[in-house]
Amino acid sequence: MRKTNIKNLSIEELSSELQKLGEQRYRAPQLLKWLYQKATSSFVEMTNIPMELRTLLDERYTITSLQRVESVRSSIDGSQKFLLETGDGSLIEAVLMKARGVQTICISSQVGCPLGCRFCRTGDGGFKRNLESDEILNQVLFFKSRHLERNRRFNIVFMGMGEPFLNLGNIEKSIEILNAIDGFALGQKRITISTIGIPEAILALSETDLKFSLAISLNATTDRVRREIMPEADDIVPTLAAAEEFARARKTIVTLEYVLISGVNEDPADAQRLAGITRGRPFKINIIPFNEWDGCPYKSPTEENLERFLQVLLPKAPTVTVRRSQGGDINAACGQLSLRRASERKRDLS
Ligand code: SF4
Repeated sequence: MRKTNIKNLSIEELSSELQKLGEQRYRAPQLLKWLYQKATSSFVEMTNIPMELRTLLDERYTITSLQRVESVRSSIDGSQKFLLETGDGSLIEAVLMKARGVQTICISSQVGCPLGCRFCRTGDGGFKRNLESDEILNQVLFFKSRHLERNRRFNIVFMGMGEPFLNLGNIEKSIEILNAIDGFALGQKRITISTIGIPEAILALSETDLKFSLAISLNATTDRVRREIMPEADDIVPTLAAAEEFARARKTIVTLEYVLISGVNEDPADAQRLAGITRGRPFKINIIPFNEWDGCPYKSPTEENLERFLQVLLPKAPTVTVRRSQGGDINAACGQLSLRRASERKRDLS
């Protein structure tokens, strides 16, 4: 019998599978706790489940995990980037950051990315496939069981490899488990999805009960510049309209990320426009000075130009923060570790 991947089942699907086996509904929460709170890797260890059922589950289902391939730690801020291998040998990246006592893990939603944003190393490396929901959740479990400080809260950001909203079904399934009391019990403030901003997906998700915060990777104040650096991105007006609708429907604030790139979007006129398009709307702005990588066509902004941009923006815009990307010395910009390892594999095969 071909076994089913149990971590790919939604909570409803898991309950209905257990009912088909003649079990009561309370078995589903028990199983969720073993899988996601205790990060158990075999059914045999599930001691509050009758042995007969454990054997049956073992015959029908698999419990997957990710293998660590390598990791690098930043000597500047201690952030750690991990290269992880899925069951089919695909490589994905995930990062652990610790700043001011807050643990944040940055996870991937796809193997590579089809969108090809020109400032992004992942986009430069092409696309292989979407991650399944077990592969998304297993990134969190990888950190939870080995690297997170016990009994301390942590945040998750979908900001690694891939565009989450191109993998909507699996993102929804994994967020359901991340939210569930018997799963990871993480609320809206603990989960952030960073997206290029696909209006239909934003609007569809604004109507669900899934709890997460939204961040839009805006990066430009004109459609011409946005298309130049993000060729697949939608126009700014419909993207921000959908983000505003999301914020209003959920009574929350949406973050607009703005990667500041030298000579591209750092002009005082850009700062003026950015202030203009956000004024009076439920947005906050996160400025991220671009981090250069080998072979990239763009340069980081100078401190002077960053300062000049902020001086125009700050008096006119809603809340503004500046985020220095962590792990500059370990190429924390996503995609770098996996691309290096993939080209080494190619070399070994030739
Ligand atoms: S920035 Fe995000 S959406 Fe754009 S190519 Fe990189 S991973 Fe994909």
